[in-house]
Amino acid sequence: MSYFSTQLVHGVPVHDNATGAVNPPIYNSSTFAFESVDSMPRWDYARSGNPTREFLERQVAQLEHGVRGFAFASGLAAIHATLSIFKPGDRIVVGDNIYGGTYSQVNEFFHRWGLLFTVVDTQDLDAVRAALAQDDVKALYFETLTNPLLRVNDVAALAGLAREAGAITIVDNTFVSPYLQNPLDLGADIVLHSATKYLAGHSDVIAGVAVVGSEELADRLYYAQNRLGGVLPPQESDAVRRGIQTLALRIDRQQENAQRIAEHLEAHPGVTAVHYPGLASDPGHELAARELRGFGGVLSFEVDEDLVDPVVVLNAFRLFRLAVSLGAVESLAELPSRMTHFELPREERLKIGITDGLIRLSVGIEDVRDLLADLDRALAAGAAGRGGDVKGELANLPAKLGVPIVGEQEPVGAAA
Ligand SMILES: *Cc1c(COP(=O)(O)O)cnc(C)c1O
Repeated sequence: MSYFSTQLVHGVPVHDNATGAVNPPIYNSSTFAFESVDSMPRWDYARSGNPTREFLERQVAQLEHGVRGFAFASGLAAIHATLSIFKPGDRIVVGDNIYGGTYSQVNEFFHRWGLLFTVVDTQDLDAVRAALAQDDVKALYFETLTNPLLRVNDVAALAGLAREAGAITIVDNTFVSPYLQNPLDLGADIVLHSATKYLAGHSDVIAGVAVVGSEELADRLYYAQNRLGGVLPPQESDAVRRGIQTLALRIDRQQENAQRIAEHLEAHPGVTAVHYPGLASDPGHELAARELRGFGGVLSFEVDEDLVDPVVVLNAFRLFRLAVSLGAVESLAELPSRMTHFELPREERLKIGITDGLIRLSVGIEDVRDLLADLDRALAAGAAGRGGDVKGELANLPAKLGVPIVGEQEPVGAAA
């Protein structure tokens, strides 16, 4: 199998039935019959293993270049199982910008069970080296791209530091997907995904996966999966399997759209900053160009709060849905300070750069002209909300940037 897009569709062969079906069956069976009392059946009970789940697990292991994959009932269940391989007294160094649910799991749950954590800025390699030099450090945990500011973490450099310190590296690759990066190839030991996002890709399933780079870690994670029991059911396993088949197609369009939108916003009079590694001006651009095969479909931007009311902008969107989550075919917008990151005290939020005027977009596969028109309209509404009028300038922007609002393809009725 030569190329990634072909592997997405045909990577794991379908050959377990006599019907000629091109897709694997969904095995709705919680138990499997023994041939005889002393037989050792491949399948006995579906928490321990189910052929539909295993198909997905083989798919993700292949796509992430690992030795074995595991599918869980959610991204957080995958993270829970992964962190449960450690014991009280073990110290884990975690990035200071990790997913909020992960942070709570670490801070409120695992902390009570005796795991020790050191929070560190993973952009600062000296700080990471110092944190890793403490006693009993067993792992370094971070995300490929941080949320919502899209800082790029240097997986190769960070995994190298962890290895020198005798610790394993765990990377949450949700924002990037195996299409754009394979952390195991860069020295990581375990890769995690909220498959709810890009892998499934349609906002219709909650799922998580973990892929490990060694048999030893595979044994430890399999034990955790089977004993904690947060496994992904067969229907959901199949939904993720199907989503994966279009991963490259979707991300190609999503990041093409995201790039256009980021450039458009960068030139917008009401916008003070755009965070997207695809922009040449972005601090992570060079690193992303080196370590990633693309820049992804999520971006965030800050409005000038004197000119534009961010809450009005969010409420004025018609095409972008006002929702948390990301990575699906439809475009979503959210206000981190009031939605995904509302639990952080304002002081702490501001310290890590999440201002009240920061808006995050998860860009979908729609026609970018409709997305740009929706953004411009919402920003104009946000400006009107501050009593200002940047409409005149806004109207000129699409033309200035060479984005025709009515193009060769006629619009098919009003945008939803
Ligand atoms: C959504 C998300 C998770 C949690 O996944 P669930 O499927 O919601 O449990 C973990 N990490 C990142 C980066 C996420 O975006």
